[in-house]
Amino acid sequence: MKMLINGQWVAKPETIDVINPFDGTVIDTVPAGTTTDVKAAIETAVEGFEINRNLPVHKRITILKKACEIMENCYEELAKTIATEGSKTINEARKEVGRAINTMMISAEEARRICGETLPFDSAPGSENRVGYYYRFPIGIITAITPFNDPLNLVAHKLGPAIAGGNSVVLKPATVTPLSALKLAEILLEAGLPPKILSVVTGHGSEIGDALVSDKRVRMVSFTGGVDAGNQIMKKVGLKKVGMELGSNSPVIVMDDCNLENAVESCVSGAFWAVGQNCIGVQRIYIQEDIYEQFRDQFVTRTKKYKTGFQLDEDTDMGPMINEKEAIRVIEWVDDAVGKGAHLLTGGTRVGTLVQPTVFEKMPASAKLDCQEVFGPVVSLYPVKTLDEAIEKSNAVDYGLHGAIFTQDLNQAFYAIKKMDVGSVIVNDSTDYRVDLMPFGGVKNSGLGREGIKFSLQEMTEPKVVCFNL
Ligand code: NAP
Repeated sequence: MKMLINGQWVAKPETIDVINPFDGTVIDTVPAGTTTDVKAAIETAVEGFEINRNLPVHKRITILKKACEIMENCYEELAKTIATEGSKTINEARKEVGRAINTMMISAEEARRICGETLPFDSAPGSENRVGYYYRFPIGIITAITPFNDPLNLVAHKLGPAIAGGNSVVLKPATVTPLSALKLAEILLEAGLPPKILSVVTGHGSEIGDALVSDKRVRMVSFTGGVDAGNQIMKKVGLKKVGMELGSNSPVIVMDDCNLENAVESCVSGAFWAVGQNCIGVQRIYIQEDIYEQFRDQFVTRTKKYKTGFQLDEDTDMGPMINEKEAIRVIEWVDDAVGKGAHLLTGGTRVGTLVQPTVFEKMPASAKLDCQEVFGPVVSLYPVKTLDEAIEKSNAVDYGLHGAIFTQDLNQAFYAIKKMDVGSVIVNDSTDYRVDLMPFGGVKNSGLGREGIKFSLQEMTEPKVVCFNL
């Protein structure tokens, strides 16, 4: 596919192969964009901003709704694109398409709710006879940078609210999964989006990243990805708004009064969804000691039933990791843990990019798997005596995106809600629970700001105050 700049589909002599991670076949190529392309895209976005800020809201709504209709019509094609360029099974990919349509639809709906409020100016002495209000205006050009693991929906989470709010966007999708993003751009143009409002530059973040984030004309950088890239961007960004949606190593607490079957089922799914390449994937499970063995045995039995293989086979439970380098890294972390005394209950092996779902117990605090984000299909089980111990251990990391607790006791649930240092506490589902309208984001190294359309729209628009001296 070509990249999109100034309403033109642009090819380049230098290209990047897009590879099916299961068998290494080249499924397509995209241009290797350069800093010159970034410059051209930002110049286009200057004009694009003028166009979108002047589009009446009802026109933006019509475009976004039309895009949803087109996405419905090519549902299966989008799912196949997600599954072929990425790691998801076809069933996981279909779910992502449904969510992306929902994200775009919520963007259309929220566009009509970008409101302000009146202000009581006369509450300040000397401000008598003033009447006024604030309402919200688009922020300007937004650079959006997205990761590989949800190549369609996380792009929709940037484009939907940015367009709804009246901005222009320069999007850089992950180099390994650019096709879903380019297809969404195609769909938006077909839906009637004036072309200059959106450019998509494909290319390596290490080469074009600085140009994308440091340009003074860009008013916001909306980034989703890892903490290392996030930190690099923060050093280059200068005075502009940033949204940082970063990683985690999410904790789940399982209390002895919970519905055990539900807890096991949710945690297995939450640990191995998208091969564990999931920012809210379950990585650490703290289980009250009197049900520990029961939980562990059921968890391992269920994990062993997982069928890994080709993503497009309907009965595959878990596809390949995104590339062999990542699969090798995960096995290195497994070896690091085993070398430090962790007890491997199942998995821990790989063939090419296929890593078996892996479960550990007795994970030492010195192992990377205990405290860093594995972003792979590896989960550790820990017995705990009390809820306080579980919370203390859950919080003892640098991340804080989602946390979860399984319990039937409201008091325990509310105690965890109060004490867990995370952006969301999920009760009786695993950390891998999210709907696209909720405020989504984390504390500590998990990020800055919140996504979830209504909340993205707050970030992507600015209040302007109007005051009449009567
Ligand atoms: P990544 O390596 O950080 O890459 C994310 C994006 O940033 C890619 O488009 C990448 O381009 C680009 N990039 C890399 N270095 C850059 C730089 N210096 N300047 C500008 N852009 C740069 O992350 P990933 O491996 O794709 O995704 C995995 C990470 O994303 C995990 O940590 C995961 O937890 C996190 N994530 C967070 C959320 C959330 O909402 N909180 C959701 C999903 C994923 P290239 O592809 O060209 O390298």
